[in-house]
Amino acid sequence: MTARIRRFLDESRPATPCLVIDLDVVRESYLAFTRLLPQAAVYYAVKANPAPEIVSLLVRLGSSFDCASIYEIRDCLAAGAPARRLSFGNTIKKAADIEAAHRLGVDLFAFDSRGELRKLAAAAPGARVYCRIAMTGEGADWPLGRKFGCEVDMARDLMLEAGELGLEPHGISFHIGSQQRDVRQWDVAFGQTAMLFTALDEAGVKLGMVNVGGGFPARTRKDGPGAEAHMEALVAAARGHFGNRMPNLIVEPGRALVGDAGLVQSEVVLISRKGYRDEERWVYLDIGKFGGLIETMDEAIQYRITTERDGAECGPVVLAGPTCDEADVLYQHSNYRLPLTLEVGDRVAIESAGAYTASYSSVNFNGLPPLATYCI
Ligand SMILES: *Cc1c(COP(=O)(O)O)cnc(C)c1O
Repeated sequence: MTARIRRFLDESRPATPCLVIDLDVVRESYLAFTRLLPQAAVYYAVKANPAPEIVSLLVRLGSSFDCASIYEIRDCLAAGAPARRLSFGNTIKKAADIEAAHRLGVDLFAFDSRGELRKLAAAAPGARVYCRIAMTGEGADWPLGRKFGCEVDMARDLMLEAGELGLEPHGISFHIGSQQRDVRQWDVAFGQTAMLFTALDEAGVKLGMVNVGGGFPARTRKDGPGAEAHMEALVAAARGHFGNRMPNLIVEPGRALVGDAGLVQSEVVLISRKGYRDEERWVYLDIGKFGGLIETMDEAIQYRITTERDGAECGPVVLAGPTCDEADVLYQHSNYRLPLTLEVGDRVAIESAGAYTASYSSVNFNGLPPLATYCI
């Protein structure tokens, strides 16, 4: 919890649950990327947290944006981002949305299949396109699996076809998996990308850009290398595979720009035991999977959880949300422990929760409103 967030919570006592974002931390994280990766352009992955205050701040700092939908594109334009600084990075787009984006001036599009390439050729003629190659997601707490990307030999053929269809074959992208804990994945990704560059060069297509996606972690309960260690590994991998033929780099951090900047303040609604002999307490919070903590699915993202009674003796707990849904359990296999003195009404903080929370929270499940966000 930053000093600014603590002061805001003490002075304003907002109703819970809520997300508080310290914009100073967003700024510092953005500047860390520009400092440690001076050779890369930063495209903020808007889906991590589309709060207008965050987008406006990043526009002022000179960031570019990776947009997942025509709605995010419109929001970024409304916040003052020039269309030339937007990438339509989703590989799954409606033709009408491609056309609308192109009409608005967007000129950079992702694809990973022939079907999408055909749509781009028809709806955004002449646009710059990049092909996403598949990664395993190994080492990532929130892998992106087989949903995105294609194999390298297919990417080669599609990039050749892009040129034939009147598009500009611009570059290659990948994403090594979100909340990645294995910095060696950068080397795997750049190795495949460099091979692809060579194969395309031999076929007469010269590419100029590698989009390395995200994957840089926020701080969670699991130890792992921080975002800066990832950036160092990324630079080493890029140098190792491209040497002095270094292409332009695009980096698309989402989680690492906003995760550590945010804290979810919640309240204990109920503490119970399921049997007289149970040592384990069930602690029900006023936020759960549907309130924005969906990344606790399979207990994948393990948030650091703090209370005002930390320091007291702790006992095992199951942590659950408040809704009438069996799936709304946060952690029951990951050995969470909380103070034995914890009481109903106590405030509980979910740390480093600025990414993929507010944007995931449901609209009206059980009548609950979406997660309120305060940007300070
Ligand atoms: C979600 C996403 C990102 C952001 O990933 P993080 O792991 O949150 O940094 C970047 N690029 C693309 C294409 C994405 O879909």
